[in-house]
Amino acid sequence: MAEPVSITYKSPHPVAKQSGAKGEGVLTASATACYTAPMPAVMRSYRLRAYPNGAQVRMLNQWFGAARWLWNYSLASRTKAYQRRKESLTSIDISRRLTKLKTLPKYAWLSAPPATCLTQTLRDQDATFRHFFRRVKAGENPAGYPRFRPRHEHTTSLRFQGVSLPKWVKGTVSLHKLGAVKLAEPLPNVQRPDTVTLKRESDGRYYITFSAKVEVALLPVTNRVIGVDLGLTHLATLSDGTKIENPRHYRARLRYLRQQQRCLSRRQKGSKRRERQRLKVARIHAKIRARSQYTAHQFTTRLVRNFDVIAVEDLAVKNMIRHPRLARSIADAGWGEITRQLEYKCAWYGRTLVKVDRWFPSSKTCSACGHKLERLALSVRGWTCPDCGAIHDRDINAGQNILLAGMSQIGGREDRDLRREGGALAGDGETAPDELRTGQIASELFSNGFNQINL
Ligand SMILES: [Zn+2]
Repeated sequence: MAEPVSITYKSPHPVAKQSGAKGEGVLTASATACYTAPMPAVMRSYRLRAYPNGAQVRMLNQWFGAARWLWNYSLASRTKAYQRRKESLTSIDISRRLTKLKTLPKYAWLSAPPATCLTQTLRDQDATFRHFFRRVKAGENPAGYPRFRPRHEHTTSLRFQGVSLPKWVKGTVSLHKLGAVKLAEPLPNVQRPDTVTLKRESDGRYYITFSAKVEVALLPVTNRVIGVDLGLTHLATLSDGTKIENPRHYRARLRYLRQQQRCLSRRQKGSKRRERQRLKVARIHAKIRARSQYTAHQFTTRLVRNFDVIAVEDLAVKNMIRHPRLARSIADAGWGEITRQLEYKCAWYGRTLVKVDRWFPSSKTCSACGHKLERLALSVRGWTCPDCGAIHDRDINAGQNILLAGMSQIGGREDRDLRREGGALAGDGETAPDELRTGQIASELFSNGFNQINL
């Protein structure tokens, strides 16, 4: 196996030794370097499992129905007004109509949910229209006109305003007209949010979600960079040779899911057995999602803690490779989640995430000399470079190439030029070309303080 690309550089960032807050004698060699920058406040979103009781579930079913009806009524009115009179209605116009409707005995049920929940539904529709108009302006086709909500929605939600303060730190959340809803865990100690969303997932479980401002401390500089190759057999392979396994039961769960989905397709439409089976499949999906999210959190936190610069392939680029459908769609979701987490964690903790946005054959290219193989079958896990003789593990080599491409991307220079420069400079044979090359770029970049640039 080839030596993993090791890259070292010095960060010129203002670093200070951590103050010995806990007493003297702490400021020794083990003291950690950390940023002197103030803690940034970021918006953090929370999601907690909620357990409404029987009466609350009955109320909620009615409210979800009312919100859905209002959404469809509003969408139909707006569409008609535009088609007939080229008139644009806003949520305020619909809101006025709603007030009138509520006075009619036929629509008395519209007064059951909190008025603010219905207002929020209308506002959400405004946002949907705004996004639609933006896409039309950008010339996207299809632009995605807002859709009607189906009668049997599997996922549905209501947004509440004004959560009552006294219940905020206990194991319940108090929602307007609904009362105290039991939660699986205590609410975090944050400032009370303006709105709280109560959501019913397709597997029939309820969650409350909200976001709050929290302070995060920037992580200490590590002077290390890493390239990440996301995969199927392994969740990820790092350029330093580390391989992250997929959860052990991943394959087995996929097989089980496929089985249960076949069973669902055999059930008669509209039957009770079909609904039961649908819930079962939804729960398997939710479990896979939760598990892969947990794995992703462990993995991304580890990356963000240990490295200053993290290079990944852009997913749009990654998706150019084809794989069996089901495994693929789940892997896609997993990769998407990893990228999403890396994005916000890097932003929070002062790290740099580089998305390699240009397609290149990361598996087939030799990371030591740049030689490109004609072809490399998916089953081949390792190969020897015919040009320089380096022995490569398929995935580690890909990770190293991603790192090199990422470093050159933030340096604004072409990969090929870097290889040539690196080769010329490494004439004495003491330093591996890769090490020297990337180390050099990195030190140049860091002297420009690029960690501060939002890439
Ligand atoms: Zn080579």
